[in-house]
Amino acid sequence: MGTSWTLLLERSRVMLRFADLIEKHNDEIASLESWDNGKPYEQARDVEIPMVARLFRYYAGWADKIHGLTVPADGNYHVQTLHEPIGVAGQIIPWNFPLLMFAWKVGPALACGNSIVLKTAEQTPLTAFYVGKLLHEAGLPPGVLNIVSGFGRTAGASLASHMDVDKLAFTGSTDTGKVILGLAANSNLKPVTLELGGKSPFIVFEDADVDKAVELAHFALFFNQGQCCCAGSRTYVHEKVYDEFVEKSKARALKRVVGDPFKKGIEQGPQIDLKQFEKVMKYIRSGVESNATLECGGDQIGSKGYFIQPTVFSNVKDDMLIAQDEIFGPVQSILKFSDVDEVIKRANETRYGLAAGVFTKSLDTANRVSRALKVGTVWVNCFDVFDAAIPFGGYKMSGNGREKGIYSLNNYLQIKAVVTALNNPAWI
Ligand code: NAD
Repeated sequence: MGTSWTLLLERSRVMLRFADLIEKHNDEIASLESWDNGKPYEQARDVEIPMVARLFRYYAGWADKIHGLTVPADGNYHVQTLHEPIGVAGQIIPWNFPLLMFAWKVGPALACGNSIVLKTAEQTPLTAFYVGKLLHEAGLPPGVLNIVSGFGRTAGASLASHMDVDKLAFTGSTDTGKVILGLAANSNLKPVTLELGGKSPFIVFEDADVDKAVELAHFALFFNQGQCCCAGSRTYVHEKVYDEFVEKSKARALKRVVGDPFKKGIEQGPQIDLKQFEKVMKYIRSGVESNATLECGGDQIGSKGYFIQPTVFSNVKDDMLIAQDEIFGPVQSILKFSDVDEVIKRANETRYGLAAGVFTKSLDTANRVSRALKVGTVWVNCFDVFDAAIPFGGYKMSGNGREKGIYSLNNYLQIKAVVTALNNPAWI
């Protein structure tokens, strides 16, 4: 296997076989993901694990299509670029989508021919180890992918500051992203790509079908217990449909099915751990104290596990903490707006710039708003569409670089220019 791995076609084959194995073991992987993270088993099985298989098939297709260019240049030279693997890629992932984040990082790095040291989040190590075994079964040679479990300040920091790690890719909080940039800068200046936090606006215009908008805004915020970096956590609603929207959002949240993630039909499991649970509860208290209207929820469910009632605040103002900070929990904040220019300005007035949702029947409004928002992804009349081919990443303090699609390949390549003198250069 050792030598055939260097063959491009073999790289593709391994990734394709791996995708088949992921599908074959979907039930076990989804169970582990749910055990580890608390997310609904059906969500892991029907949504996330199929996305992982799709992503490896997508990058399997790239393995033999990565190549340099012949570059026209002044003078008597033949100029070509070589697209080489960057070397050892360090990758640090979070706990909210453990296996999907593994895929976003490992897929492109393997397609480009790198070796990898990946650190899982301390809360959720299980699925990465399980599929690491499947990758070997698929034919990946020993040593190409190395999975480490450990805490951020020890294992993560060692990786970020290691002199033999040539590139670092990180997904997690903005604060940790800053620390990692510092560690990279103070060691070997390795390039770093960062996928960080967000406070994404979800904008509902007056021409919207309110029922559909309510459902999509609900999904945009509550999906994965609200633990999504791109969660639509500032729901801006036009004043003409605002009251109806709030009433229906409250009704929808009250219907949300919360409980044992292994039960059929469960929409929401517990938060990941005590730290995140307490953080979310603190923000709920802050919303109440700042006089936002608590429409529903706001409490823990029962006393066992970290279940939080789906919570909806209306009359939220831009300067409230719940409209500014990333809560990372099942807490929807609904804000009122009057016109397009105003909502564009307010949506952009944040330190984050990861994603946005725009809900309207007007093509003009959709085009205008999509172009004006300072975010890495705009979903128009949809949300959380994460196909492997679509790039994802942030403006401002939501990070730098893009993952997925063709864009992720650049993160894992060195570009070398080879300039060859053609016939008798003057200095020979
Ligand atoms: P975190 O940043 O503390 O942890 C993420 C990863 O970084 C983990 O693997 C952790 O072990 C590691 N880490 C922590 N400190 C480190 C250090 N000093 N050096 C190196 N590695 C370190 O994030 P968290 O608090 O566990 O997770 C919650 C936050 O993560 C959320 O509030 C959200 O902002 C963010 N997040 C963002 C995305 C995204 O895609 N943008 C995805 C998930 C989570």
